[in-house]
Amino acid sequence: METVRTRFAPSPTGFMHIGNLRTCLYAYLWAKKHNGTFVLRIEDTDQERYVEGAVDVIYSTLKKAGIEHDEGPDKDKGYGPYIQSERKDIYLKYAKELVEKGGAYYCFCTKERLATLKDENGIGKYDKHCLSLSKEEVERRLAAGEPYVIRQNIPEEGISEYDDMVFGHISVPNKDMEDEILIKTDGMPTYNFANVVDDHLMKINYVIRGVEYLSSTPKYNLMYDAFGWERPHYMHLSPIMKDAQRKLSKRYGDANFEDFIAKGYLAEAIVNYIALLGWAPKSNQEKMTMQEMLEQFDVDGISHSPSIFDEAKMRWLNGEYIKELSIDEFLKYATPYFDASKVAGKYDYRKLAELLIPRTEIFSDIPEKINFLEEFGEYDVEMFENKKMKITKEIALMALKKCEEILPKVENWTNDYLKELLTNTAQEMQIKTGQIFLPLRLAITAAASTPGGATEMADLLGKEETLRRLRFSIELLEKNM
Ligand code: GLU
Repeated sequence: METVRTRFAPSPTGFMHIGNLRTCLYAYLWAKKHNGTFVLRIEDTDQERYVEGAVDVIYSTLKKAGIEHDEGPDKDKGYGPYIQSERKDIYLKYAKELVEKGGAYYCFCTKERLATLKDENGIGKYDKHCLSLSKEEVERRLAAGEPYVIRQNIPEEGISEYDDMVFGHISVPNKDMEDEILIKTDGMPTYNFANVVDDHLMKINYVIRGVEYLSSTPKYNLMYDAFGWERPHYMHLSPIMKDAQRKLSKRYGDANFEDFIAKGYLAEAIVNYIALLGWAPKSNQEKMTMQEMLEQFDVDGISHSPSIFDEAKMRWLNGEYIKELSIDEFLKYATPYFDASKVAGKYDYRKLAELLIPRTEIFSDIPEKINFLEEFGEYDVEMFENKKMKITKEIALMALKKCEEILPKVENWTNDYLKELLTNTAQEMQIKTGQIFLPLRLAITAAASTPGGATEMADLLGKEETLRRLRFSIELLEKNM
C-alpha cells in the first residue's frame, strides 16, 4: 500500500472550532494508524478573513491537543510552501495548464453582464459565454490587460460520481454544477481550485474534511480527471450539532477549543470527547488515550448522521481525567481557581486538592465548591429536613447538640479521628450515622453540596471555626423550629 498522506487545512480564523479540531484529529489518526504522514496546510487565500496571529492559534491548539504534524509551514519536507498565499504562482501556472487541457477557460465578463444572468434572488448559472471566445481573441484581450477570471469548464451532460468512504456513492448530474471561478481577478485561487492543486502536489491521497464539501467533490474530481491526475480517497464528516436543528457554531458560544480550555477542561479530555463525536470504536470504550484511539480508529465506526454535542458528557469525561491527576498536577490547573475564590491564600491548597480531585468535573466549578469555607451566615433551616434519611429539624438539633457536647473535648482534630468518634456516637445514641453526619455537615457549611463529608469539612475548617459555626446553627435552628 502506498504511504498514506492526509492533511488538515484550516483557514486562519483566530479560533479553533470543535468541528475543525475533530476533522484534524481524524486526519491525524488515519495517517498515524497507517504509519503515514500528516500534513498541516494553511488555507489563507481569502485575504478578507485574515486574522493576525491566527496561525499561532492553530499551532498552539495542535500542540495542546497532542496532535503533531509531520509537515507544515514550520516543517518543510519538500512539498512546501504550506501556506496558500505563498503559492500564488503555482496556482496560476496550473490554471493555465488546465485551460490548455480544456478543463478551464478565461472569462472576461463584467459584473454588469453577470448580473443580467441572475434573477432577483441572485440565482442563475453562468452561461459559458466566454467558452466560445477564439484563442486569438483571448490572447488579444489578455495582452490588452483586460481583467479576467479563470473558470472551470464543466461538461453540460453526463453525471459525475465517486465513492465516499463515509457517505458511500455520490453522484451529481453535471448540469447541476456551475462553471465556478478557479482564479479570481486578483490572481488568487478560490478554495475550489487551490484544494485540488495542493492536494495533488502534496501527494495527499486521503482527503478528510467536513461534509459541506461532499457535493462539491465531483467538481474537484473533474479537475483531477482533466489534469490526468489520480483522484484521492475521500472521507467526509457529518456535522456536529448543538441539538436536532442547530449546528454547533460560534454563534451559540463556547464551541471553540480555547473557550473550553478557559472554562477549565483538560485538552486530553476535549480531544477524547470530540473523537467520539461521529466515531464509535468497536470496543465501545469511551475514555481513551491517543494511543488507544490510534489503535482502534477505523472508518467503519464513523457515522454519517450528525452528532449532538453533549457538554454534560464532556464534563463527565473531564472529571474522569481529573480523577487521575496527582495532587501536583491538579494544583497546576486548580491554583488559579483557588486564587480567584473567596478562599484565596487561606486553607491548605493540597488538602483542598485531595478533597476536590475525586469531585471536580471542570476546574471552573472550584470556587463555587469551596466558597462556603469563607462564606457563612443566615440560611434556611428547612435544609435539615430530609425524608430519605429520616431527619427532621428536631433530630438535627438533637444531633448537633450532642456534637457540641463532645467536639470541644477533641484534641486529635483530624478527619479520621472525628469520623470514628461520630460513628461511635451515633451507635451509642442508637441513630443512623447519616443522622449525625448530615446535620453536622449542613450546620458547619450551610451548603447543600460540599467537596467532602462532615468530618472532612470539620478538618478543613479547623476546630475553632467548626465550633463557632456549630453554635450559630444550633441557635438558628432553635429560633426557627
Ligand atoms: N480551509 C477549509 C476549511 O477550513 C478546509 C477544507 C478542506 O479540508 O478541504 O473549511
